[in-house]
Amino acid sequence: MREPSDRPPYPKSLDLARDRSLTIEWDDGVRSVIPLADLRKACPCAECRGRREAAPAAGEGLPVIGRQADLSTQTTAASAELVGHYALRILWQDGHDTGIFEFALLRRLGEAT
Ligand SMILES: [Zn+2]
Repeated sequence: MREPSDRPPYPKSLDLARDRSLTIEWDDGVRSVIPLADLRKACPCAECRGRREAAPAAGEGLPVIGRQADLSTQTTAASAELVGHYALRILWQDGHDTGIFEFALLRRLGEAT
C-alpha cells in the first residue's frame, strides 16, 4: 500500500475568475487562490523567463514591457485548458498562450500568497 505522499497533490477543481484569480481545490484538502497578476509574473514559458532574466538592475532604467495599455490584458485570462494530467495552460487576453503551468508550480504559487 502506498503512502499518500507518494504523489503530488492533484487539483480536484479549478475555478478561473478571468479578471481576478485562479482558485484551486487540491485533493489533499488545501485551497489555493492565486491572483492572476502573480500567475502572469511567474509565467514559465521561455519568452517570459528570458524577459525576467534580462531585466537590468534597479537604477539602470527599466525597460518598457509592453505598452501601459496592455497591462490589464496581460493580467486577464481569456481561457485555460488542462495539458495532459500535469499542467494547466492559460491563454491570456493579450494573446499570450505559451505558458504551461505545472501543478507543482501552481501549488507553490498558491502557498506563496
Ligand atoms: Zn510567458
